[in-house]
Amino acid sequence: MTHSFDALILGGGAAGLMCAIEAGKRGRRVAVLERADRLGKKILISGGGRCNFTNIHCAPENFLSANPHFAKSALARYTPGDFIALVEKHQIPYHEKTSGQLFCDRSARDILAMLEQECRLAGVSIFLNTKIEQVARVDTFVLRAANAEFCAPVLVIATGGLSIPKIGATSFGYDLACQFGIRMQEPRPGLVPLLLGHQQRSHYCDLAGVSAEVIASCHGQQFREKMLITHRGLSGPAILQLSSYWQEVELVRIDLAPATDVTAVFRDPKIARTSATLRHQLRKILPNRLADRWVELHAPGAWTNPALAEFEKQMHEWSIAPAGTEGFEKAEVTAGGVDTDELSAKTMESRQVPGLFFIGEVVDVTGHLGGFNFQWAWASGAAAGRSL
Ligand SMILES: Cc1cc2nc3c(=O)[nH]c(=O)nc-3n(C[C@H](O)[C@H](O)[C@H](O)COP(=O)(O)OP(=O)(O)OC[C@H]3O[C@@H](n4cnc5c(N)ncnc54)[C@H](O)[C@@H]3O)c2cc1C
Repeated sequence: MTHSFDALILGGGAAGLMCAIEAGKRGRRVAVLERADRLGKKILISGGGRCNFTNIHCAPENFLSANPHFAKSALARYTPGDFIALVEKHQIPYHEKTSGQLFCDRSARDILAMLEQECRLAGVSIFLNTKIEQVARVDTFVLRAANAEFCAPVLVIATGGLSIPKIGATSFGYDLACQFGIRMQEPRPGLVPLLLGHQQRSHYCDLAGVSAEVIASCHGQQFREKMLITHRGLSGPAILQLSSYWQEVELVRIDLAPATDVTAVFRDPKIARTSATLRHQLRKILPNRLADRWVELHAPGAWTNPALAEFEKQMHEWSIAPAGTEGFEKAEVTAGGVDTDELSAKTMESRQVPGLFFIGEVVDVTGHLGGFNFQWAWASGAAAGRSL
């Protein structure tokens, strides 16, 4: 049986649903084809179950892309204010956590229920458990699933990235881009914990669970946020943010005592220059266990001024050579994806293949931690939906 529509949207996540709503509101006959048994699985697990659905300080600087200008147009035309208006229309209670991050008070289920209701109001058809096996383009796009066929002059790819394969992430969007000769930026895990090499792991990883505010930097980027020691390496917001920029073999620098002169106390000649005093000073800045471990491993060989200066320097420039990342299994997003040079920044339509659109995470636009990835999904979805 062949189902015929004005537009087919592949993937019922954040971007696909927003696109369907906007196109449906304009009177287009749209269908969302979703391979899973329910819509928006990632929305449900996002933000620890409370969905950090946007960030009120959203700006183009919060996104990575080979072309940093690409996202500007869509982000300007669908703002955090637009999504907040939708949330308020549905009377969903929410709160600001830190730095502009908005979370549901109750549950991420509220956001999914809102999108599902908007789909119903816009007359969107939803097909669940629909795994597309083949896409062909004759005059229109023809999509074959196991027991049905779909056709439409417009196809929107909203199949997301590779992160968290156990909830259904697939490479389908990337494979399709290749099928149509559309260039890609190599996909890589983003917002992902970093692994320490063998020696540093043996020095620090028994402190798993300990966290401290640091400045983490690499690749010309720096983030002042919490760092968390894990069983295999480092995580926490500062490291997750940095991981999206980190490239193999690059060193990461960590300032363990931002804007603090840890050894200043020793300029007072009355203060005894001992490990105990140093430990006491460090415990004012770092959690006790990390402070003690740092002194154990880095105590100055001599208590001279140059040795203290070297200790101070090491605290501000802890240099790490990560052995890798925790990979797509643990990555919150996939960086890289469909090359933005291939797409219209206004509509997300392919320049080479008219009628083919890419939106959301499958595109080479990746947000920082803090609600920016959903904002990109809403904004790119709306940009495509309004142009159908
Ligand atoms: C644990 C976790 C927590 C997160 N928390 C936040 C947060 O709080 N705030 C934030 O901004 N971002 C968060 N993110 C990132 C955010 O969830 C994603 O950036 C966003 O969901 C991307 O939306 P999307 O619609 O592009 O892709 P997805 O949400 O991944 O949706 C893609 C959909 O396509 C379907 N699909 C895949 N292949 C096929 C196929 N072949 N045929 C049909 N359907 C297919 C999938 O089943 C899925 O439903 C989080 C991510 C994770 C993993």
